[in-house]
Amino acid sequence: MPYTYDDQNIFAKILRGEIPSSMVVETEHSFAFNDISEQAPHHVLVIPKGAYVCYDHFAAQATDAEIVDYTRTIGAVCKQLGLEPGAGGAGYRLIANSGAHAVQEVPHLHVHILGGRPLGRMLQQV
Ligand code: 5GP
Repeated sequence: MPYTYDDQNIFAKILRGEIPSSMVVETEHSFAFNDISEQAPHHVLVIPKGAYVCYDHFAAQATDAEIVDYTRTIGAVCKQLGLEPGAGGAGYRLIANSGAHAVQEVPHLHVHILGGRPLGRMLQQV
C-alpha cells in the first residue's frame, strides 16, 4: 500500500518555519535539530526535507542524492557532537521508529541520534 504523507505533521511545520526549532545542521536535502524532549545529553533528530513517512518509504522512493545527503548529514551530526568512536568519542545510538509497533509519533521520517551517556541495552527486556 503506498504511503500517504500528512503535510500537517509537526516536522513538516518545522521545515516550513511555522514552528521554531533548534537547528544543528542544514543541508540541501536534510535538516537536523534538537529533540524538544531530550532523552540523553545529546538528542538530535535528523529529517529529510522531502515528504517521506518513514525509513522504508524513503529507501524506496528517495533519490540517490537525497539518500547520500541524509546519510552524510547523520554522520556529520555525530562528528559535530564529538560522538564518533573512531575519533575518541564514546559512541551513540541511531533510532528510526517506523509504524505502530515502533511507536512512531511523528509521521515524517526521522532518525534519533542519542549520546552523551551510557545508553543501556538496545531494547528493554520483557
Ligand atoms: P518518534 O516517537 O516519532 O520516534 O519521535 C518523535 C520525537 O519528536 C520525540 O522524541 C519528540 O520529543 C519529538 N518532538 C515532538 N514534537 C516536537 C517539536 O515540536 N519539536 C522538536 N524539536 N521535537 C519534537
